[in-house]
Amino acid sequence: MSYLERVLENLKKNNPNEPEFHQAATEILTTLAPVVEKHPEYEAVALLERFVEPERVVMFRVPWVDDKGNVRVNKGYRVQFNSAIGPYKGGLRFHPSVNLSIIKFLGLEQILKNSLTGLPIGGGKGGSDFDPKGKSDREIMAFCQSFMTELYRHIGADTDVPAGDIGVGAREIGYLFGQYKRIRNEHVGVLTGRGLSYGGSLVRTEATGYGLIYITQEAMKARGDSFDGKTVIISGSGNVAIYACEKAQSLGAKVVAMYDSDGYVYDPSGIRLDVIKEIKEVKRGRISGYADKVHGSKYNEGCKGMWAIPCDVALPCATQNEIDGQSAALLVKHGVKYVAEGANMPSTLDAIEVFQKSGIVFLPAKAANAGGVATSALEMAQSSGRLFWSFEEVDKKLKDIMVNIYHNIDDAAREFGREGDYSAGANIVGFIKVAEAMMAHGVV
Ligand code: NDP
Repeated sequence: MSYLERVLENLKKNNPNEPEFHQAATEILTTLAPVVEKHPEYEAVALLERFVEPERVVMFRVPWVDDKGNVRVNKGYRVQFNSAIGPYKGGLRFHPSVNLSIIKFLGLEQILKNSLTGLPIGGGKGGSDFDPKGKSDREIMAFCQSFMTELYRHIGADTDVPAGDIGVGAREIGYLFGQYKRIRNEHVGVLTGRGLSYGGSLVRTEATGYGLIYITQEAMKARGDSFDGKTVIISGSGNVAIYACEKAQSLGAKVVAMYDSDGYVYDPSGIRLDVIKEIKEVKRGRISGYADKVHGSKYNEGCKGMWAIPCDVALPCATQNEIDGQSAALLVKHGVKYVAEGANMPSTLDAIEVFQKSGIVFLPAKAANAGGVATSALEMAQSSGRLFWSFEEVDKKLKDIMVNIYHNIDDAAREFGREGDYSAGANIVGFIKVAEAMMAHGVV
């Protein structure tokens, strides 16, 4: 049994009941063989065993009072996974499905994603099984304040800088920041995704979605292709999905379908993003309302059917494991040419295999959605330098970062004999930098 196989087997044995964590670790470790073979010294210092073990896992209770006066209790998490190349950085997710396995898979992915940006940020992730859906503003605030009343002692502008993720947007970041500032009496860049009036960066809201389109555009350019005239489907209708849609449309693509967790809308004449924004960003409503407003569109219960819609480009931007092997096969059968992951781990291992065997362009999450965290790092740079860059400046930096990521993963895939395999390319490039830093730090 190889070193990598042993590490993976022990990980599964030592972390039972964590299927998402196993899945992410399998996807990563099975592509690192060429690097590990080149560096036998890694095994002697148990580098991989340390790489897959979080530096610190914080779990805590989050008590809060709902509008009826009932005391409610949720679970809170922060996994500080790896700080070899910089302070822990990664979002907070508020969703009822959150558990340790999900936070650990996200944290492990985040280490390599952050490394790929070329910026000095380590990997972390956190969140809660709190469900923001249907809660009043006061309940959201009460929850966020209680969450931060524990989290504040573990984070800091040079230690660990959380951001948003599913269920955590501008409103939640505002309440979390307000509580941090109150407790610590410090106005520092301890969270990213902050509002523009209190230290946020332009483009952060758009960054993940825009970045996803920039990297896909670069992959297209390398093939003499472009977004112009392409038919696109996008899962989700949250932060990442909305801004991916906006940028794709601005480049001449026609987005024909989007979804939320209840069902999808199909609009053959092209999704009207103003309507989606009104429903999802302003009213916090359901996407089903789109069909009532836009003539010629159709709402369908359930999400899976969306992957059967013929398209050139598929952008999964909702959640993990939303595309299984069967859905991947349908996409390929109906002519998809590019799949770029806006969400984290949206494709199952079976789906990835289908995409790779079919020869389509598959851009994995840790490269394709790195624009969000990259712009968070730009927000950190502006905070510590007391600077405020223009929209154009930040957007240009974001685009340059995404273009670089594409070429770095493309080059690495070629160098290691896996041409066109961007999963391997991304894992290898991300890992090499982290491994070098870990070697330099000794056994810590
Ligand atoms: P949001 O909360 O803004 O939006 C999430 C969207 O996905 C909503 O439309 C939601 O529907 C849908 N969704 C959530 N769970 C499911 C499910 N089980 N089935 C179907 N649809 C679902 O989150 P973000 O847009 O911020 O995040 C989306 C993805 O992108 C996540 O995987 C996240 O980790 C990843 N990501 C986000 C970054 C960021 O900067 N925000 C950065 C990098 C990655 P509903 O409204 O019904 O809940």
